[in-house]
Amino acid sequence: MIAVGVTPHMEMDRVNGYRDVMVWDGITDAHSHFDGALLNHYPSNNPNRMNVEPNTVAYMVENINIQSAALKRLEECSSKEGSQIDLFDKTKVTKIVRPLIEELHQHYVDGENKAVPKDKEVKAESPIDLEDWPSIHLDNGKTIKTRLLIGADGINSPVRDFAYIDSLGWDYDTHGVVATLKLDPNRPNNTAWQRFLPSGPIALLPLSEEYASLVWSVKPHLAKALKNVSPADFCTLINAAYRLPHVDLQYMYKQISSSPSPDMPSTTLQDEYAWRENTATKSLSDQSMLDREYALPPQVIDVQENSRASFPFRLRNAERYVADRVALVGDAAHSTHPLAGQGMNQGLLDVECLSKLLEKGTMEGQDIGNIHLLRKYPAERYWRNILMLSSCDKIDRLFSNDIAPVTWIRSLGIKAVHNMDFLKAEIMKYAMGIEYSGDFRH
Ligand SMILES: Cc1cc2nc3c(=O)[nH]c(=O)nc-3n(C[C@H](O)[C@H](O)[C@H](O)COP(=O)(O)OP(=O)(O)OC[C@H]3O[C@@H](n4cnc5c(N)ncnc54)[C@H](O)[C@@H]3O)c2cc1C
Repeated sequence: MIAVGVTPHMEMDRVNGYRDVMVWDGITDAHSHFDGALLNHYPSNNPNRMNVEPNTVAYMVENINIQSAALKRLEECSSKEGSQIDLFDKTKVTKIVRPLIEELHQHYVDGENKAVPKDKEVKAESPIDLEDWPSIHLDNGKTIKTRLLIGADGINSPVRDFAYIDSLGWDYDTHGVVATLKLDPNRPNNTAWQRFLPSGPIALLPLSEEYASLVWSVKPHLAKALKNVSPADFCTLINAAYRLPHVDLQYMYKQISSSPSPDMPSTTLQDEYAWRENTATKSLSDQSMLDREYALPPQVIDVQENSRASFPFRLRNAERYVADRVALVGDAAHSTHPLAGQGMNQGLLDVECLSKLLEKGTMEGQDIGNIHLLRKYPAERYWRNILMLSSCDKIDRLFSNDIAPVTWIRSLGIKAVHNMDFLKAEIMKYAMGIEYSGDFRH
């Protein structure tokens, strides 16, 4: 964002860097603290990545802020820097056509073992044939021919379908409930809090001084119920999810799943929570109560109107990220469980990598749509994305159960990580993407 000049156009009072992440097990309470200050002791070796603010683990930026800053930057590029940019707003791609790809695909479908006819082979030294460039048909009646078509069109990518690239993976039986929450203003808000419950992780990510963003992974029926409960009950359930044992939570979830909120007096759930919280803490001294509260996220006091939504979680990876005159980036290429907040980050790293490759190709006078150049992009990104996808998937599997030996082993793991500052710094740098350079000097 900094390198391409988007950051200066962002509303900086709505960009929030947070300094640490608390992660803990919902069954055993084993915890690990990822403190941004560790990065001062174990700094990045990558000279391109020195401009991260000290003690900052991650930034929370709303989508709308990124999008409007990117649009302003595009405007700046065309008005001040003379770039020729045609932007089609509120326009849908209705069809993508390319005769050669379709002929070749038909050839493979019709006769599995037939060799590709010589005149249809894609060759590095082929003369440029404009007839063969993909044509993109828009719903405003326009058609665009392009030397290189980049599919940044999400998990159901029409570009990926057009290039006959399969996408492999599975659906998690989990939905993510998201919302913007108001927190107790008397507590600082610069920590991300993630509790791994057997039903899925719940994460609060600081958005500003008093607001935080919620991502709560739950089964689809519970996601539906959580979207329908009253705002007060919703806040109660979030506070409970961070404070009560799993068995108490299951009881409360049954209450909202079996009787939707309109029929249920809103005090019932709140009384239930107050009673259970009281039982759990009644033997604690005032000081211990205070210590316990400060080891937990600030109390959620309200939910921003219309901010509640839910999304299904899916794991996908495209069989290939490139075809002749086609490249896929972001969710069009891969989609991951968002428990580590890495989906958008991976997409940005794809874009950075592909841009550098295309820059190099252009400088050297190569055809940037040619498969022989494009192949260097997946060579950099494919295994890195697979590693992230499979790491997030394994973490999800490890934490989504309450079988005793598994909870015991994972608690040992969390405690071991907690005591290894070097490892925690490396994990943070990996999640921040700061060890990746993706240049093509070699
Ligand atoms: C609950 C949840 C929480 C998440 N939290 C995080 C997080 O904390 N951090 C993080 O890094 N990632 C997170 N992610 C993942 C992140 O949202 C995605 O990885 C990211 O949005 C993917 O961006 P993209 O541009 O590749 O695809 P998308 O955001 O899906 O954008 C694709 C675009 O293509 C357009 N499009 C599609 N078809 C057509 C067509 N025919 N014509 C014209 N336009 C078309 C769509 O309208 C859309 O605008 C989260 C995801 C979920 C579900």
